[in-house]
Amino acid sequence: MRTALTLAATKATGAATRFLGRGGGTALPGLMAERFDPNLASKLAASLPNGVILVTGTNGKTTTTKLLAAALEAKGERVLTNQAGSNLKRGVVSTLIKASNLRGRTTATMGLFEVDEASLRLVAPLLQPRQIIVLNLFRDQLDRYGELDTTARLIGEGIAATKAKLILNADDPLVASLASYAEDPDNVSYFGIEGLPADLATADRSVADSDRCPICNERLSFSRVFYSHLGHYRCPKKHFDRPQPVIAMTRLDKADATGTGFEVSVAGKRHQASITLPGVYNLYNALAALASATAAGVSLETSLKSFSSTTAAFGRVETIDWRGRKLLMLLIKNPTGATQVIETFIVRAKAPKVLIAINDNYADGRDVSWLWDVPFERLAGSKAELIASGLRADDMKLRLHYGGLDSHLEPELADALDRLVTELAAGETGYILPTYTAMLALRKLIGKETALSEVKV
Ligand SMILES: [Zn+2]
Repeated sequence: MRTALTLAATKATGAATRFLGRGGGTALPGLMAERFDPNLASKLAASLPNGVILVTGTNGKTTTTKLLAAALEAKGERVLTNQAGSNLKRGVVSTLIKASNLRGRTTATMGLFEVDEASLRLVAPLLQPRQIIVLNLFRDQLDRYGELDTTARLIGEGIAATKAKLILNADDPLVASLASYAEDPDNVSYFGIEGLPADLATADRSVADSDRCPICNERLSFSRVFYSHLGHYRCPKKHFDRPQPVIAMTRLDKADATGTGFEVSVAGKRHQASITLPGVYNLYNALAALASATAAGVSLETSLKSFSSTTAAFGRVETIDWRGRKLLMLLIKNPTGATQVIETFIVRAKAPKVLIAINDNYADGRDVSWLWDVPFERLAGSKAELIASGLRADDMKLRLHYGGLDSHLEPELADALDRLVTELAAGETGYILPTYTAMLALRKLIGKETALSEVKV
């Protein structure tokens, strides 16, 4: 009875906030549920026949969730997932409420939720997941040294409050050290990379976020570094070394803007795999999803097949050579996709030059409030040069301003494009993030001078 009353009240609240136009109505039902029935989320999660999987870590949560959902669905599961912007406790609780009828039932067979690193401590005890995936731990731009250890400890508390199987990145020392929080240390599955061609592994370790032994705090010695602090490591005093991954990338066959082909070893047997996503970080996301899907009973064949056809959160990526510059056109149309574009292409670029073109024509969606759900803050400290353009250039500039970011206002697309190209050195890559009709208009401007090469990502 209490469940039904709480669900009725909270669902009405969600509908009302959506009606009033205050955000997507995602967080408030969760807040209401906490007030009326603190156990509601636990009950709803427990009603999912094949349980819950939680995905956390600094980068790649959305991509991993997407790949894993595809594999689980290919097996026949009906997977309930949350939106990238709703990864705090209230967002997850609201997602469960929205999907449930008044009797607390959903048509989903599994829950797969991405959870903010600091929120795992709250979400995990509530939902009692069967698996917890931890992808990586990087310092966010605004964090100070030492805070990463605090984040890891908070995740550890979340893990310790469950009996979940852990899916951990073997190549991230701090993540691998989380195994010590598992109820059963054998109930851990590691994923990792065995080796990368030299040109793809970064030699620069000045950005390493965590490279200390979790036991003696001595600096770990690395025999291989893939990027930042991810690689093969051991404590010089032999307290701690990289665990052997069960799921490992053993050979890279192809890596370009259209995707990645690789050989993956699963419990010693080698298989060919491919994903339609570029970048080493996406390899880790695929390995994590594969480890989790395998633990959830999805066959390797099914998982690998679903990965090769998952277009992840991207619509389309175009590479354009124009006036001696390389332009990457990355369509953005919702918070999930835009977050993905920023995480995959922009955050790791050095001093990227970015043109963001926001239109609000019918085909773009008239409401641009979703821009507030995109973590543009991630670009703070990256020395990005930003240009705000399009019909809603002012809104975009304001959004960036609230993220602590300066930007040039160039409402006219032609002016904005000129400005971007002028700022680029010969051979340098510029990034264009347009909404749909802005993309069409930009293409027209560019197409007057050049042929477009389109790649599907
Ligand atoms: Zn040590």
